Amino acid sequence: MHSDLWLEEKFSDFLGLRFKVENVLFSGKSEFQTVDVVETKGHGKMLLNDGLVMVTERDEFAYHDMIAHVPLFVHPNPKNVLVIGGGDGGTAREVIRHSSVVQCTMVEIDAMVVDACKQHIPQTAKELENPKVNLIIGDGVKFVKETTEKFDVIIVDSTDPIGPAQPLFGEEFYQDVFNCLTEDGIVVSQGESSWYAMDIQQSLLKVLNKVFPQSYLYSFSNLTYPGGLWSFTFASKRYHPINDFQAQRVSDSGLEFDYYNQQLHSAAFALPSFAKKGLKGL
Ligand code: SAM
Repeated sequence: MHSDLWLEEKFSDFLGLRFKVENVLFSGKSEFQTVDVVETKGHGKMLLNDGLVMVTERDEFAYHDMIAHVPLFVHPNPKNVLVIGGGDGGTAREVIRHSSVVQCTMVEIDAMVVDACKQHIPQTAKELENPKVNLIIGDGVKFVKETTEKFDVIIVDSTDPIGPAQPLFGEEFYQDVFNCLTEDGIVVSQGESSWYAMDIQQSLLKVLNKVFPQSYLYSFSNLTYPGGLWSFTFASKRYHPINDFQAQRVSDSGLEFDYYNQQLHSAAFALPSFAKKGLKGL
């Protein structure tokens, strides 16, 4: 027990977030990053990669609901889904709740993240052994370049654009994503913070606008990423995220959520004015 232990996420050279730690459950260094799982006082178990908060038990539902259910309720019949990254398992867990989904392929580069979460954070990792989840340990960038499979929905659940995640924000990667989506496919990606990373959002949306006929940013509120307001991008070959959303499908699905709902689906695409201004004309 480390009863006086606090950890600080150093988000930048001007901001840090502190969390009270009750116990360190796992600490390792893989080929790609450091991986830590700690038991915190206020947020349950927490996964950190390279000292940055990835998920906490307390608020992971907000992130995973919004990254998975928004595209899966716009696409009318998502059967084959690809998750890139997402080693904690929370996104795959939400994807396979959709009865139309036949297979969720998940390509995570770092086996240590998966193993640590399976052992210590079953809340997110509990479906990783589900037969509908085809877990591949490998580089998502290479996977989309080489696969001959087509996916209805691709979800890029990645870390910030550093190290192996850097290409996941680039044009070549999204060109490959476009090529392995079906003709009505959708890609949703972790889209950073409008408060602190407008530059990353601008460059990601520029790339998506170049490759896809339509792309948008949508937001959600969370507790443990700096700034509270966090985003995903939605890019699509055909479907509009609001006009093609049939809200009735949410109630017909019988699924229950702690964050996502029919009203929030469309509301999430309404951005604060400073974000709209920052992303105008890209
Ligand atoms: N929810 C988290 C966030 O926004 O901070 C991200 C969760 S998940 C843990 C991110 C995962 O992306 C990490 O486990 C990391 O290893 C993985 N990743 C980074 N680059 C990758 C790549 N090129 N291919 C596959 N997975 C990658």
